[in-house]
Amino acid sequence: MLLTITTTHRPATDLGYLLHKNPARAQSFEVSFGKAHVFYPEASEACCTAALLLDVDPVGLVRARRGAPGEGASLAHYVNDRPYAASSFLSVALAKVFGSGLAGRCAARPDLAEAVLPLKARLAAAPCRGGEALLRRLFEPLGYRVSARQHPLDEEFPEWGESALFAVELEGECRLRDLLAHLYVLIPVLDDEKHYWVGEAEVEKLLRHGGDWLVAHPERDTIARRYLRRRSRLVRDALARLAEEDDPDPDETAEARATEEGAAEDRIGLNDLRLGAVAAALRSAGARRVLDLGCGEGRLLEVLLRDRAFEEIVGVDVSHRALSAAAGRLHLDRLPAVQRERIRLVQGALTYRDRRLAGYDAAAVVEVIEHLDPARLAAFERVLFECAAPRAVVITTPNAEYNVRWESLPAGTLRHHDHRFEWTRAEFRSWAGGVAGRFGYVARFLPVGPEDPEVGAPTQMAVFGRGDGVEGAA
Ligand code: SAH
Repeated sequence: MLLTITTTHRPATDLGYLLHKNPARAQSFEVSFGKAHVFYPEASEACCTAALLLDVDPVGLVRARRGAPGEGASLAHYVNDRPYAASSFLSVALAKVFGSGLAGRCAARPDLAEAVLPLKARLAAAPCRGGEALLRRLFEPLGYRVSARQHPLDEEFPEWGESALFAVELEGECRLRDLLAHLYVLIPVLDDEKHYWVGEAEVEKLLRHGGDWLVAHPERDTIARRYLRRRSRLVRDALARLAEEDDPDPDETAEARATEEGAAEDRIGLNDLRLGAVAAALRSAGARRVLDLGCGEGRLLEVLLRDRAFEEIVGVDVSHRALSAAAGRLHLDRLPAVQRERIRLVQGALTYRDRRLAGYDAAAVVEVIEHLDPARLAAFERVLFECAAPRAVVITTPNAEYNVRWESLPAGTLRHHDHRFEWTRAEFRSWAGGVAGRFGYVARFLPVGPEDPEVGAPTQMAVFGRGDGVEGAA
């Protein structure tokens, strides 16, 4: 069983610090099912590869199972693909040998543990039960470029056809700890056959290593089901706890918001003003292919769809319920084909890199950032301005100063119970200005709604353009 991890970050030998394994030395570790060896086939300034070679002892494994009921020592116990096919054994070895890397600990170089690096992982032989399609569905949403080559059953006898094993290569830019966590969880999922007892402890492991990315993974149900060997109670438990980690109930939140926040703001038609202002900003940026991130029930999508200037419109939201409300509002099932082809709804979270968001002219993020946990804002910034990186970005958020003008709003409260924060104009400018500076954009600020001389307008809007472009350069 062979896993290699390569980086071209400079100096590439930093990989040694992250894995807590000296590139100059080969090391071996005992694991309960055999031996794990770590060595570096290459370690130069420009490119460094660490290899984890797992030497599984199939005979030892059978002996260790001595006495298990109904486990006669059949030939298959001795002759099988365990020594070379990536499986949960590899995950166990990974956690044992690269435990610090997996936990993101790097006392010598803490900055490195948080650094996003160009990384490539290769699995010499991974059983993909579910085929290459599943492999892609598992890794592509995490931002990897995936390539897979199916091994023939026997190179000498091509007529025997393909085996169930693939040589897999995953390439992406992320923190090493993320790559290790993705492999730790997803290798057994690919194999779909955990070789040891699955109990409560496995739920903890799944949450520990998947907690921050699994919530938003489009295949999270399949992942939890396979990881936990289809033990339905454990799967239910894990999925419920995963959902809690993100939002107690994104669907309910989206629904409640529509009524609660809407009631106060609708009195001044703020919602329509806001959508008009955002659509105008997108148009004047010359955008044709646009994203509406956190599209909710699709009110902006509806406006954009009416305007032929927008040729491709994609609504993204974390809440399935909001998306199905949007599909209803837009009558997606009844749209004529030419209209239907212009619009798409996609489920996804804005705090996770998502390659589906790359390559658009502009993105609108309307009344969404205040719903994000402040600790996740930095992740959101990178997802939007670094990974999706559209030419123009339009963001709106409540102006907290204006709240004193809402008669129905008790002093000091937020406009909506799910808002994690509401910013003053100065706070929004300072955040947006910082983001623009860090990611090479220029930000302009515009008020939306009736402007009060003292506290400003109820909604604040920032329009970001690329620093080198025309838009926003004013
Ligand atoms: N833009 C819409 C909805 C705003 S409400 C409008 O103006 O009407 C905020 C929306 O953001 C909700 O639909 C919520 O489900 C979504 N949301 C919150 N956190 C999110 C996240 N991390 N990723 C994607 N969508 C999110």
